[in-house]
Amino acid sequence: MARTPMIAGNWKMNTDPVEGVRLAEDIVNSVGDAEAEVVVCPPFTHLTSVQEVVYGSNVALGAQNMYFEDSGAFTGEVSPTMLKSIGCTYVIIGHSERREIFGETNEGVNKKVHAALTHSLKPIIAVGETLEEREQGKMEEKIKTQVTSALEDIKSLESLVFAYEPIWAIGTGKTATPEQANDVIRYIRANLGSLYDPDQAKETRILYGGSVTPDNIDSLMAKSDIDGALVGGASLKADSFARIVKFQ
Ligand code: PEP
Repeated sequence: MARTPMIAGNWKMNTDPVEGVRLAEDIVNSVGDAEAEVVVCPPFTHLTSVQEVVYGSNVALGAQNMYFEDSGAFTGEVSPTMLKSIGCTYVIIGHSERREIFGETNEGVNKKVHAALTHSLKPIIAVGETLEEREQGKMEEKIKTQVTSALEDIKSLESLVFAYEPIWAIGTGKTATPEQANDVIRYIRANLGSLYDPDQAKETRILYGGSVTPDNIDSLMAKSDIDGALVGGASLKADSFARIVKFQ
């Protein structure tokens, strides 16, 4: 079975609710005929209003993060049940900004993957190395550890999406070359194949993320193992995001 490409926009901590709704409307209006699966991940504050815009369209709603408990005394957190109840389909888990700025651990990522699946949310699990780790030859070890620990006690790859996001390429304007991205994504898929049924690994989508723009998306998507993109900065303008969605 061919893997359906996915383009997901991570708005991060950008847009106010009015701007977010307008951006979502412009995206819905410009990607209606897209072959790729399209996902937008706005801030928590406007998930509900963006859901009203994308409902019934070919644009799915995702959250940028969540906590792993269902409810309780966890001030400032948002639960998988809350996300599910407002119509989220996807949730990004383990984005490098969560790991690097907020101290999210591999163990916490694994708990969130379990919680997401329990509540029928599809996790987009982000992994990636720093420039230092790449230069010191520690990239594969880092990524293998992130992938393996995220999947501890997870029975199947069904509903999972991965995103390879080299930290040195996020928001920096430095994109991994299509070859670099494809090599690491192939490595991730090989790891998945050693942990699960290799046929299931072949069906699992693995996106690339890191300074994806309308100018580099086509060469990235031309690579055999790259199944789409997790897009930050370029997802904040409907025209650039739509061009990425309609890669050639
Ligand atoms: C991201 O937010 O995951 C990302 C890849 O950001 P950018 O496209 O801005 O590098």
